[in-house]
Amino acid sequence: MKKATRKEIQEIHKRFVERYSDAVTELKYKNAYELVIAVALSAQCTDKRVNIIAPPLFEKYPSTKELAVAELDDVKKLINSCSFFNNKAKNIIKMAQRVEEVYGGEIPMDEKELQTLAGVGQKTAHVVMIEYLGANLMAVDTHVFRVAHRLGLSDDKTAIATEATLVKKFKNDLHALHQGMVLFGRYICTAKNPKCDECFLTDLCKSKEGFKV
Ligand code: SF4
Repeated sequence: MKKATRKEIQEIHKRFVERYSDAVTELKYKNAYELVIAVALSAQCTDKRVNIIAPPLFEKYPSTKELAVAELDDVKKLINSCSFFNNKAKNIIKMAQRVEEVYGGEIPMDEKELQTLAGVGQKTAHVVMIEYLGANLMAVDTHVFRVAHRLGLSDDKTAIATEATLVKKFKNDLHALHQGMVLFGRYICTAKNPKCDECFLTDLCKSKEGFKV
């Protein structure tokens, strides 16, 4: 796979920011608590599904105070159409307990502190901070990974290495680039049959020869 040149990287950066500077997550949430839970549930699960299962969960447990004392089986029942629901149920209760005990019920909006919560790794922490604060951070999900590789921005084998490469190459506007690459990968540069005829990056793409355009 050919690599994008410095000039091409600048152009890709410009076009994404032009189109996606106001883009936000498709997860529905009303506050930091709901956002962290929604992002945690969305791992290996679609945003669409999370948007279906989360409202009844938030209705029953409107804050960490209620979720911290929830019965595990009750939480499992509410989220059992989501992948890995057993672990996710355990983690979100533990997360709520720690937020109650250590942070007085307020979600700590800090990269390191967020990662002390059960089930919250670097990617989840970054997604939360990008969405909630517009933080200059990158997070690599399956869409960002695919798009970065098709555009010749990264040939890394892992999401974490791809994240580091994108941060180094793009440097700023990372929140818009992250949101943009997720939406672009979800709706245009899809895994199967990408919509290359609707794409605004065809002249910069390193993969399109492999697809039916
Ligand atoms: S031309 Fe096609 S494969 Fe290339 S970035 Fe655009 S949608 Fe993706």
